[in-house]
Amino acid sequence: MPELPEVETIRVGLQKYLIGRKIIDIKIRVAKIFVGKKEDVIGAKIVNLRRIGKGLIIELDNNFVLAVHLKMTGQLIYRDAKSENIKLSPKTGGTTLPSKYSHIIFKLKNQKSNLKNDEGDAYLYYNDLRRFGWIRVVRKDELMKMPFFKEMGPEPFVGLKPSSGLKPSSGLRSSASASNFLTLNLFKNIVEGSNVSIKPLLMDQKRIGGIGNIYANDALFEAKIDPRRKGKTLSDEEINNLYDAIFAVIKKSLEYGGSSDENFVNALGQEGNYQNHTLVYGREGEPCKVCRNPIEKIKLGGRGTYFCPSCQR
Ligand SMILES: [Zn+2]
Repeated sequence: MPELPEVETIRVGLQKYLIGRKIIDIKIRVAKIFVGKKEDVIGAKIVNLRRIGKGLIIELDNNFVLAVHLKMTGQLIYRDAKSENIKLSPKTGGTTLPSKYSHIIFKLKNQKSNLKNDEGDAYLYYNDLRRFGWIRVVRKDELMKMPFFKEMGPEPFVGLKPSSGLKPSSGLRSSASASNFLTLNLFKNIVEGSNVSIKPLLMDQKRIGGIGNIYANDALFEAKIDPRRKGKTLSDEEINNLYDAIFAVIKKSLEYGGSSDENFVNALGQEGNYQNHTLVYGREGEPCKVCRNPIEKIKLGGRGTYFCPSCQR
């Protein structure tokens, strides 16, 4: 499932191509994926792209937004005359678009309002192998009333970490507001006193937004914490280390363009590279990068959990 780094990679990529374009038609090939009236967004211009947790918001210049959740295997891919020669990952379902997985197709005005030259046809394809994702037409004032967004926990977003000393780029900053930022204090409050195992706790979107299985596994390894331990058993130092580890793995994944372990591709249909650099995720039986003992895989909260029993205590 795309997590924070993957959805953020898509957002940053799409932002470059979509802002300023008008939606001129929408072809709906799988009805259940598109919720709402397409007439409400046809003719509107795209003015911004935001991300909330694993959700993506396409803001329009009328009263509506398009809210997108990619769920397990959703993809959003932009194509125009200029990008047509960029080789698509086979994960998009073919060598051209639309593919057999392209269930919603947005036709966009072939030029941005501020550009004079004709750029040819432009399309945004929503692909989804397993068809669990959705695109909803939502009134702007109703967006934050949707449970998915309303209940989203604060986000460990690398571009906003105050103590890191890193200057967030403007692109990073625009996607998350300070009010939903996971501060160390908020993180302590979430972990301290929790009777839940730390790994499923990290993945609970209502507590913390954006972390899924890949980054929960790798952050716990980085912090040397056994994923089965309950939140309340973590010391202050361990909580601090885990907080830093979460930001570190998310930052690393953003640098690698996300993880294409499953079906993730970026806004141009290309794969990310983090899957080749995971610490423990997907590495059952391989030697631990620190102690060389084999990585073990167990089930925890119903999800495959990878860890090093020697390094993680
Ligand atoms: Zn180890």
